Amino acid sequence: MRRLWFIILTGQCNLRCRYCGGSFPESVVPYKVKYDIDQLRKIVHERDNICFYGGEPLLNLEDLANIIMKIRARRFIIQTNGILVQNVPKWIWNFIDCVLLSIDGVEEITDKYRGRGVYRRVIEAARYLRKIGYNGEIIARMTVTEDSDIYRDVTHLISLGLFDKVHWQLNVIWYERWEFEKWAWRSYLPGIKRLVKLFLDYAERGIVLKIVPITGVLTEIFFKDLKGVPCGAGYSAFAINSDGRILACPIAVRESWAVVGDVQSGVKKIVEVSEPCISCSMFKLCGGRCLYAYYERSWGEDGFSAVCEVTCEYLRYIVSISEKVRELIRSGVIKREELFQDGIEDSTEIIP
Ligand code: SF4
Ligand code: SF4
Repeated sequence: MRRLWFIILTGQCNLRCRYCGGSFPESVVPYKVKYDIDQLRKIVHERDNICFYGGEPLLNLEDLANIIMKIRARRFIIQTNGILVQNVPKWIWNFIDCVLLSIDGVEEITDKYRGRGVYRRVIEAARYLRKIGYNGEIIARMTVTEDSDIYRDVTHLISLGLFDKVHWQLNVIWYERWEFEKWAWRSYLPGIKRLVKLFLDYAERGIVLKIVPITGVLTEIFFKDLKGVPCGAGYSAFAINSDGRILACPIAVRESWAVVGDVQSGVKKIVEVSEPCISCSMFKLCGGRCLYAYYERSWGEDGFSAVCEVTCEYLRYIVSISEKVRELIRSGVIKREELFQDGIEDSTEIIP
């Protein structure tokens, strides 16, 4: 089975986004790689993908360049806040197949959560990559909060014409509790409904809008049997912390349930969800959504259920168009390859 390896290059970050808070302590996520990079050869196969992750991975270019030179992987991916993109030696971009740039939607929202001027810096980074002839994928990676208008923010990012795909994650469970349900039913779900309709309108004209939370679920419906959480955490996607521990999920750097091995001994166990997910009617499509949220439950049982209800409703919208989309594929209006979305290939989690 092909695996996705998040390689955490540093715990340091050059921003202090509201939902994340900036750098990790160096004692938890060292700011340089502390293990011998050659050891990665025993763990990462040539068929696997590597995603550079942080902190802000571009703060540790030395280890990044070393890994690119020493370790063979099918695809190299990077998740970056974009601020340092123009400082990276150009040869490095020739090895990177996919760049995920963090941007939350319109300028006002991005800057409110990530810092003043960040939106412009990210747009400049995407334009710069295109200008220097970067021909890999560029994905807009959004964090969606109570200030997000999902329809406005996603269509805004698509309209820029800079991103090959748009993906988002909900700011839930790993952040303090907010009035999620009220916002979700009043703003988010109606916005998703409009996005799903927009997606179908375009598909009928032969154009696939690469909105990952839509294409990813359609891929699950048509082409893939989900084996666990859609991001692959704990069974096909693992993170290697800069201290050498292997983790089931790249954000679980402090959680003991997430430690599954280390660079010397490899992956020693997989981590899965069980009840209530395995008995849930949506399990085949949802897969438990997020391993971290499943284990942490920091919003309590009612918070977990509130997110589940919203997830189920969003999945129902996609199921509702699936037969029409199937027909469009069958009749050749859209191509399977255009629609196919696999998170292992680009580090998107599929279900927000
Ligand atoms: S909707 Fe909730 S209970 Fe159902 S599979 Fe997803 S996370 Fe688990
Ligand atoms: S979706 Fe959840 S489990 Fe998967 S990588 Fe993100 S935080 Fe980890």
